[in-house]
Amino acid sequence: MTREELWQAVLADLELNLSKANFTTWFKNTFISEWNEETGEVIIGVPNAFTHAWLEKKYHKAILAVLREASEDKVKKAQYKVETRRSMAGGIFGPTNVSSETTENVSMISPRVAVSLEHNGTGDNSGVINEFGLKAKYTFANFIVGEGNALAHAASMGVAKNLGTRYNPLFIYGGVGLGKTHLVQAIGNDILRQDPNKKIIYVSAEKFTNDYVQALKENKINAFKAKYRSADMLLIDDVQFLAGKEQTQEEFFHTFNDLHQRECQIVLTSDRLPQSIPTLEDRLKSRFQMGVITDIAPPKLETRIAILESKIKEYKYKLEEEVLQYLAANIQNNVRELEGALNKIAAYHDFYNTPPTMETVKNILASLTVSTPNQGSVTVRQLLEVVANFFELNRQELVMSKCRRRELALPRQIAMYLMRTELSASYPTIGHELGGRDHTTAIHAFKQIEKKIQLEGRLKHDIDLIKQRLYAG
Ligand code: ADP
Ligand code: MG
Repeated sequence: MTREELWQAVLADLELNLSKANFTTWFKNTFISEWNEETGEVIIGVPNAFTHAWLEKKYHKAILAVLREASEDKVKKAQYKVETRRSMAGGIFGPTNVSSETTENVSMISPRVAVSLEHNGTGDNSGVINEFGLKAKYTFANFIVGEGNALAHAASMGVAKNLGTRYNPLFIYGGVGLGKTHLVQAIGNDILRQDPNKKIIYVSAEKFTNDYVQALKENKINAFKAKYRSADMLLIDDVQFLAGKEQTQEEFFHTFNDLHQRECQIVLTSDRLPQSIPTLEDRLKSRFQMGVITDIAPPKLETRIAILESKIKEYKYKLEEEVLQYLAANIQNNVRELEGALNKIAAYHDFYNTPPTMETVKNILASLTVSTPNQGSVTVRQLLEVVANFFELNRQELVMSKCRRRELALPRQIAMYLMRTELSASYPTIGHELGGRDHTTAIHAFKQIEKKIQLEGRLKHDIDLIKQRLYAG
């Protein structure tokens, strides 16, 4: 096996397990520059110091594991080195020959940048967490209100003023990175500011599930119940995660009732409406709809600019007006991407100790790739994966199953509809891709969905969400 073959195998594996955006951002222009078969050491060439730091910090374990596997354990160690492949034209980051960058050089990144780097990842690793799971940095004061989130913001403020009575539960839904977690945590922080003795529990639905399973295993179910039922306010993030978890839903149902009866405030977030969460019990759906439901939509240009201005102030960072406008105009999907881009720009310029120029900023954005909707490059397979995933199905079920179960009919029609609108696929192709169905079925599906979108706001929201996932990579 040659170096190139080994690296191809590694990339193929990583690509399967990473989002498209992450994969291209971090693995573009990487290669194996040396492979010493005697010592088992591999040197991976990366295009810039930034990628160097990132791969080492975030992906080293995964890279090494895959390298080992692909080389049948011949590789023992991996290191990174900033290097340009000789055949490659100068890298997009300008000074590509930061000579023989080794691990030590990475410590040049200042602490502030290290934090931003972290932040740039899942977006959720930084900030001080208190005993209730709240991060101090999420407050109402630093939440920028705009058209898309005004109602959700108002409802959240309302909850903080009238705990447990007016809006119970409050249900906030919207796509990724639009500020749901920020808002619920702001409610919690605001209550604690008013009364530090209040017991507020913030958990993701995923953590709630894990806690529950753990309690079952350790025979500590009473302690679990006591913990969650002792809350004055329960904040449950990403409740769509409960889909399909029957046992946890059962327990959650009882926790919910107990708190609700005693007028303890409950706030829930989700990426979609309760009715659209597959395999969520009806009784929970109806509980979630007892209070107020409000959505968060992606921010408009003015709001994006205001958010950037506020973040820049927070980071004590400077950007020319022109650059700021450019960023806000080009990153439209969500606030997390906006923050991510800003962090990356700050980190880059700190690292090279140069003020940002329009040109460097453009280059950095180009390397992020996440910002530009890449309509042209979505494949049929990706589209079907995303649709199946959204409905908690696997692709086979979506495509092949001959059965006409109702819960499969809608996802399938949506898949057909999106193949038409997003990929401009022909009807015969659509029919073929979805389990060899007739082109008239595809036409029918398209018309059905087109009609339903006009009538059902919920369907439109679901489809928007699927598109967002599709293009977010
Ligand atoms: P979600 O939970 O909806 O996926 P988050 O609440 O994690 O999104 O938001 C992603 C990032 O964007 C967070 O760092 C958050 O502080 C920031 N953010 C989102 N909306 C706003 C806003 N309106 N004003 C300021 N920051 C925001
Ligand atoms: Mg969140």
